[in-house]
Amino acid sequence: MDFPRSWTNEELDRWRETCVRFITQELEPDDAASRERGHVGHAIWRRAGELGLLCTDIDEQWGGGGGDFRHTAVFYEECARRALTGMATSVHAIVAHYFQNHGTEDQKRRFLPRMASGELVGAIAMTEPGAGSDLQGIRTRAERRGEHYLLSGSKTFITNGYLAGVVLVVAKTDPAQGARGTSILIVETADCPGFRVGRLLDKMGMKAQDTSELFFDEVEVPAGNLLGGKEGQGFYQLMGDLPYERMIIGVTALACMEGAYQATLDYVRERKVFGKALIEMQNTRFKLADVATQIKVGRAFVDRCVEQLVAGTLDTATASMAKLWGSETQGRVLDELLQLYGGYGFMNEYMIARMYADARVQRIYGGTSEIMKEVISRKL
Ligand SMILES: Cc1cc2nc3c(=O)[nH]c(=O)nc-3n(C[C@H](O)[C@H](O)[C@H](O)COP(=O)(O)OP(=O)(O)OC[C@H]3O[C@@H](n4cnc5c(N)ncnc54)[C@H](O)[C@@H]3O)c2cc1C
Repeated sequence: MDFPRSWTNEELDRWRETCVRFITQELEPDDAASRERGHVGHAIWRRAGELGLLCTDIDEQWGGGGGDFRHTAVFYEECARRALTGMATSVHAIVAHYFQNHGTEDQKRRFLPRMASGELVGAIAMTEPGAGSDLQGIRTRAERRGEHYLLSGSKTFITNGYLAGVVLVVAKTDPAQGARGTSILIVETADCPGFRVGRLLDKMGMKAQDTSELFFDEVEVPAGNLLGGKEGQGFYQLMGDLPYERMIIGVTALACMEGAYQATLDYVRERKVFGKALIEMQNTRFKLADVATQIKVGRAFVDRCVEQLVAGTLDTATASMAKLWGSETQGRVLDELLQLYGGYGFMNEYMIARMYADARVQRIYGGTSEIMKEVISRKL
């Protein structure tokens, strides 16, 4: 069964072939080694940059591809359907969007071309040991001292944290002002005294993706590295692109379900139980019929959200529904599909096992399911 996208066209189909070539020929062969290492390494990022696969929805004048969300979505989808979660191009793209939407001309010129080429991997550091969902509780402090800020604090769970060449750090520039005293500072990690990458965190899934603690001990950040050049804009900047960020999770959730469905279908056609193929059991067919139905229904909703996002009309509550529904359904669907593999489903050499473990965090990062419900319920 196919699950065609309403938003695709010939150009995007050709683009998908380019992405698939890179993913299957260059990313996938190194996945097992990347999972062992806990990161994909810098070379693959530079290679992706060379092929024009990064920052594809950033303006051409800044070194981007000049496309839109659909171009990035194609890349995410093809990785997600193969359980390849090592390269967090999504976070990289989110960071690039902060530069494009809020950066000064100078900041765009200095950082975007190097992000598009893969020279700089991007990360965004909001979460702290004491503040995740409630970002107003962050304690990282940036104090203005003449022509620079002194940045001190610690961040945790930072995607791309280990490989990042540029980190957007959310910090308090004026603690007395609460949300209005929050700003985003741009930290270049190379030759940066006081900056330290902590542990590569040992996660239950997404083993090839680097997630780290980051420490800032009186790091001198040039005043010109305050995102947008004006203090107190941090929360406004963080809120600006939420539909974009949440749709990435909605889109990858659905693509992962599609990949898992197809792999499971192949498996149950081959696997014999009680003298016949597993697919001949009514339970198997009913489970797969149910999953196929959820994917089809989901595609109608997610595709519509993608179209609205591209048109600039997607609101945060609807995007939050896509994130909530997508990640929750992904968890349920993978659980059902894994069951059809029996013991093999518990083995990491099977893609379904890796997908199952990877999927769990989709309900947590990018705003938890509970936070999504908070956001949606404000529009009831
Ligand atoms: C693999 C991974 C990658 C990540 N990448 C990044 C990254 O790149 N950058 C970054 O800054 N962060 C990142 N995060 C952090 C992530 O965004 C946070 O973990 C998430 O926002 C939740 O925050 P927390 O872990 O502090 O949980 P808490 O905020 O402590 O939440 C604990 C529980 O309380 C619930 N809860 C909280 N508030 C409410 C409420 N108002 N109503 C009801 N329930 C509530 C939550 O839903 C959750 O169930 C990543 C996390 C992981 C696991």
